[in-house]
Amino acid sequence: MKLATIGVGNAGSKIIDRMLEFENETGRDLCRHVMVINTARTDLAKPKYVPEDRRVLIGDTHQKAKGHGVGGDGEVGAEVAKNDIDEIRRVFDDVEIHEVDAILVAAGLGGGTGSGAGPVVIDELQKMYDEPVYGLGVLPGEYEGGRPALNAARSLQSFVTKVDNFIAFDNDAWRSRGQTVEEGYEQMNRELATRIVTLLAAGEVDDSDVGENAMDSSDIMRTLDTGGVSSIGYASSDLDKPDGLLSKYKTKDKDEEINSMDAAKIKGLVRRAVNSRLTLPCEVSSADRALIIFAGPSSMISRKGIESAREWLEQEADTVEVLAGDDPREDSDTLAAVVLLSNVTETPRIKEIQNQAVDAQNKIAELDAVREEEITSLITDDDNELDPIV
Ligand code: GDP
Repeated sequence: MKLATIGVGNAGSKIIDRMLEFENETGRDLCRHVMVINTARTDLAKPKYVPEDRRVLIGDTHQKAKGHGVGGDGEVGAEVAKNDIDEIRRVFDDVEIHEVDAILVAAGLGGGTGSGAGPVVIDELQKMYDEPVYGLGVLPGEYEGGRPALNAARSLQSFVTKVDNFIAFDNDAWRSRGQTVEEGYEQMNRELATRIVTLLAAGEVDDSDVGENAMDSSDIMRTLDTGGVSSIGYASSDLDKPDGLLSKYKTKDKDEEINSMDAAKIKGLVRRAVNSRLTLPCEVSSADRALIIFAGPSSMISRKGIESAREWLEQEADTVEVLAGDDPREDSDTLAAVVLLSNVTETPRIKEIQNQAVDAQNKIAELDAVREEEITSLITDDDNELDPIV
């Protein structure tokens, strides 16, 4: 697939930057157009791979932002984006839209810029283009507290109703001990970039020269066509390792045996991907549609293996809508399986975020109500004998 990618806010921009890094390292060419949008000047300087002229600062004249961010307030983020929509549209104008299959907007939903400006940008893109617009959204961890949960729960409603599909990444599930927050984010961004690029870069070559099992962009788009919230699983096998797939492949000499051995291994790889940590933990059987992509040397990916993995997932996900194919990467020394579970409806984390958000909203309303009273009581003497000067 060929994409136009837009990162909104700090997390969104960092994720896009990691996607560019991963495609660079692996010789892929997924992101044909890139743009990052932020309200904080300092955050805009962070990406390493996004060209300078594709970084857009919004809200620098807005009284509450002034180039320093929106202080985690999603409503200000949305307001700033609406005010500067002409600037956003202008940068998007030179995108050759016929060169891309879809547009991907990435954002962290717990902050102010991604959660608020993200949906405004998506609205505009949906108005401007017929191509599907997908969201890639990070859900905040419980440990971040009530405010990010409230932003995320509200922003999720905006994102999911406006995009053609929303691929979620749950920071809570991916948090690991013994790391600073920044180290943790760095690792999570790499993991996410590996999954999303491996998934969406399949079918990027238009050549009719690709093999018969090759996955096509339209297959990916069809799977994402359900709308709703989606999750990705991933597993890879190092082909150079003695217990990797290659050694078995080399030691067997009869074609039939090679294929059946490969089929078992390939199915095992997909099983591992599905049972691995998903980008959003969910009940696999609640998926509406699913898709498997094998990325690696085509000699490693037998048709029999693809078919047996597809059949296995069809049962596991309890849906007849499972597509499977390969993305030939002849120079790769790994074989990766990436599984897209589209429109998953049983995912406890979203309910947890909503509960945390409702608590936070109630607490904020309570605080607002007593604040005025407390200030008045603080500055008023016991018997109310004093008057203000003016
Ligand atoms: P914004 O710029 O105002 O949109 O705010 P940020 O993007 O800095 O943060 C929004 C949310 O994204 C936070 O609440 C975190 O949950 C998450 N976040 C921030 N940075 C990263 C990152 O690098 N990786 C991941 N996975 N999550 C991040």
